[in-house]
Amino acid sequence: MSPLAQEQLDEICRHAVEEYPFECCGIVVGKPDHNNENIVYRCTNIQNKLHEKDPVNYVRDARTAYNVSALELQKLLSAASSKGLIFKVLYHSHPEHDAYFSEEDTRMALFDGETPIYPDTSYLVVSVYDKKIRDQALFSWNPETKTFERTLD
Ligand SMILES: [Zn+2]
Repeated sequence: MSPLAQEQLDEICRHAVEEYPFECCGIVVGKPDHNNENIVYRCTNIQNKLHEKDPVNYVRDARTAYNVSALELQKLLSAASSKGLIFKVLYHSHPEHDAYFSEEDTRMALFDGETPIYPDTSYLVVSVYDKKIRDQALFSWNPETKTFERTLD
């Protein structure tokens, strides 16, 4: 079963178009056994702020990177878990790039280069060119190959 229903995917695509030319990011939480009651939360991409403050450590700006504040994410996830909702999807967009899982995406999804921070969460990447959605792809951690692999959306 897809972790996302069509209307949630539509909402994420709207977010990607609105944030263009910057990357959008957000999460989807919901009940473990179905996707009808999923909730999409838009998160703030703080990458531009990080880049302005510290361009040496944050080389990229929000056109090619995303960053969610740990505090914002923690608040959303603890509110969700108190309602019995699980963290299903972390999404972000790729303005003017295809819907692949980049090296940077992999690095951001791992603690120490090999342990996934959220092993049961899928990652959705939405490709948007010239303010139009071109493609999307879902990736999940495969513990056997120790890589993120594209799964059926
Ligand atoms: Zn990415």
